[in-house]
Amino acid sequence: MKGKKIATVVGLGVSGEGAALLLSRKGWQVRVTDAADSQEIKERARILKQKAGRIKIETGGHTKDFVKGSSLVITSPGVKDNSLPITWAKEQKIPVIDEIELGYRFCPGRIVAVTGTNGKSTTTTLIGEILKAARLKPIVCGNIGVSFCEKVLEADKDTIFVLEVSSFQLQRTDKFRPYVALFLNITQNHLDRHADFREYLEAKLDIFRNQKATDWAILNAGDPYLKKLRNIRSRVLYFGGGRKLPDAYAGTPDAVMLKGVHNLQNALAAILTGVIFKVRPAVIEKTLRAFNGLEHRFEFVADIEGVRFINDSKATTVDAAMAAIRSVNGPVVLIAGGRDKGSDFTVLRAMIEEKVKALILIGEAKQKMETQLMGTTSIYAAKDLNSAASYALKLASEGDTVLLSPMCASFDMFRNFEERGCVFKQAVKGLRKKQAKRELCRIR
Ligand code: ADP
Repeated sequence: MKGKKIATVVGLGVSGEGAALLLSRKGWQVRVTDAADSQEIKERARILKQKAGRIKIETGGHTKDFVKGSSLVITSPGVKDNSLPITWAKEQKIPVIDEIELGYRFCPGRIVAVTGTNGKSTTTTLIGEILKAARLKPIVCGNIGVSFCEKVLEADKDTIFVLEVSSFQLQRTDKFRPYVALFLNITQNHLDRHADFREYLEAKLDIFRNQKATDWAILNAGDPYLKKLRNIRSRVLYFGGGRKLPDAYAGTPDAVMLKGVHNLQNALAAILTGVIFKVRPAVIEKTLRAFNGLEHRFEFVADIEGVRFINDSKATTVDAAMAAIRSVNGPVVLIAGGRDKGSDFTVLRAMIEEKVKALILIGEAKQKMETQLMGTTSIYAAKDLNSAASYALKLASEGDTVLLSPMCASFDMFRNFEERGCVFKQAVKGLRKKQAKRELCRIR
């Protein structure tokens, strides 16, 4: 990287902190700016100062002078294109790059990058487990909640970075070149932030942009957009249906511990990655038999009076919820809603009519969802997730499944999808206690 070694990092989240630390260790003058002024941000600023005292930090707003004179601006995925520091950087012709681009420029090892609309975290984690079981040196990071840049500081040439990457990150890359690039699937998402579906797809395709013939691409052969992709320069492997003979396909799901049809797809993508790194089939199989999945992703919570409760709070897209509904045997009582991301819920109508015996709506998107899904099943509204859970138990019969698969973001009612999932699990535990009391009464 040429030019003056002065950089401005926009956003003091996990990625911002990592970027600032990496640059500071590499001898750059670093400035960090964040519009928020919460207790949390102040605390983060204090900790960063402790780790690297020379970093200048501005919170509670952005000022133009702070950006002036920088030769590089680094963003976190949450920073929008119209935010002030980016506008100023563009005015002053300062290059703007994402934290993963910065990490790439200093990265001593190889990179496996995973993108797609759904299944990124699950697949990324599973690949990490497979490589670890083969005694390779994986580090799982990126959009999954661990800063790539921070981990670059711990890496050497044998490290394999297993990196979850989002469309927002890819959009601000330039030279980023993964050795293995996985594109799992693509459906409508984030249409509140991307201009349209094309732009969202194009951003994700940037994952292949700098790949060469010695690199690898892993694609879903069952995805209508991905199976048609051309112009990829790396070696392509396909998984799943839609082709006569993909490189990996599911015969029987017995060897995979993960539940859900969609998770078989994720497992296939992870297997192909293992094969590229020459991991022995027995090691891959052992890992698949042991890997139980991540919290809040089609996670089994409890069985109450023969009704199964599943927490799929991470399902913030229509497609993720469809994958979950498809994976349930028998009737579903579906709890959905939250902050709409510009989704079209009408695509669910046929599936709801077929499998969902009752739909309980929560959050801001209630009205829109009700309008778009009217007539498919009985629809109820609940004031919060706790009451939704107890309505659900009332509406369900033995053999049914209550599924929280919200199809919306959580920010209207919760800090994040994790909090939403935990509140749901807590509510279900409460129901179980009530039920236990009832049983006690009955015995007496
Ligand atoms: P991401 O990191 O892309 O958001 P996760 O692995 O965290 O993906 O899963 C997000 C949600 O999508 C979960 O609700 C999960 O059940 C669902 N899901 C996971 N894999 C797939 C897939 N291959 N296709 C559709 N939905 C999926």
